[in-house]
Amino acid sequence: MASRIPLAVPNIGEREAELVNEAVASGFVSSVGQFVSEFEEKFADYVGAKHAVACASGTAALHIAMRLADVQPGDLVAVSDFTFMASSNAASYQFADLLLVDSLAETWCMDVDSLRREIERRTAAGEKLPKAIEIVHILGQPADAHAARKLADEYGIILIEDAAEALGAMWTEGPLEGRHVGTVGHMGAFSFNGNKIMTTGGGGMFTTDDPELAAKAKHLSTQARLPDRGYLHDEIGFNYRLTNIAAALGVAQLERLDGFVATKRKIAARYADAFAGTGIQTPPNLPGQESTYWLYSVLVPASRGAGARDELQDFLAEVNIESRSLWRPLHMQPPLKDELTLDGATGEDLFARGLSLPCSTDLTDDDQDRVIERVHEWLRLNGE
Ligand SMILES: *Cc1c(COP(=O)(O)O)cnc(C)c1O
Repeated sequence: MASRIPLAVPNIGEREAELVNEAVASGFVSSVGQFVSEFEEKFADYVGAKHAVACASGTAALHIAMRLADVQPGDLVAVSDFTFMASSNAASYQFADLLLVDSLAETWCMDVDSLRREIERRTAAGEKLPKAIEIVHILGQPADAHAARKLADEYGIILIEDAAEALGAMWTEGPLEGRHVGTVGHMGAFSFNGNKIMTTGGGGMFTTDDPELAAKAKHLSTQARLPDRGYLHDEIGFNYRLTNIAAALGVAQLERLDGFVATKRKIAARYADAFAGTGIQTPPNLPGQESTYWLYSVLVPASRGAGARDELQDFLAEVNIESRSLWRPLHMQPPLKDELTLDGATGEDLFARGLSLPCSTDLTDDDQDRVIERVHEWLRLNGE
């Protein structure tokens, strides 16, 4: 059997071991310790946010953002329909009603114009407007944060960016030139789960330019405990703080992040070259934006009909190559079946045809060539 090529595995080296050992030796293994604040400062600096608050997960960071947007039971939150379910879970924890907004086929991210039309319609009809808009930078691809911020500001809505999958992605032209994803909305959230572009084992980061929101986020993540001799809490908080050990891992990974991003782009460029002119559709690559291609994902030809995506996945698995389907859109998730949905056809198409291919940052050219050859073989067998 050929050696296994995994979809995406963490890249942990000596520097990580060194700093984690330092954290252990310091005795500060839990949520107090120098690495937590060091990680926050360096992270904020990296993405160009004024403040960063280290959290136990990306989902925790998003939930804090929902709390700080004052999302209450029955409030409406507009979320990208095509995403991993953690995006909407944060709003569901607050018992929000969801407005699931389809993606654009060109970007795989939220169709902000469609949301604008719905907000205009609701305004005219005197219907409830969203309390928050959550855009998601899908698979490392920047969503239209500029249009979303403009819309949010016009209607006094809070904009939250789910940048869990897109650390390192930027705009290189236009009104957001030089900006990182996760820094355009009122609040942003990143994830350091095991398969994300950098990892802390499990962890996340809340970002904002607003010092008051940053202070509140930190307060909420530490059980809303006040500095008092006794145990005094001024609201219901969470145990959402990142540990010092995890933060040590984060500091080491952050030092290597530019290298990871460059490698992801190189892997993407090799796949794009290999699939050019075939029936395989490669991910968005738009001028003025630099995606990180977190999980490199392609669409199988529509002409092959339903089931082709699974066929290709099985065909790869036969030779020990791991791949994974893109997400079932939120409007198709059983707990969300009654939520409001704006269209949804693009998300359904991405789900039906989308497959993520191996793209670990330590993927060798030889292994990537094995993946490419196998996909080409599948295309030939199917007369593409
Ligand atoms: C991974 C992910 C999250 C959640 O991050 P965790 O750290 O796993 O809680 C949120 N949104 C999206 C789009 C993700 O991919």
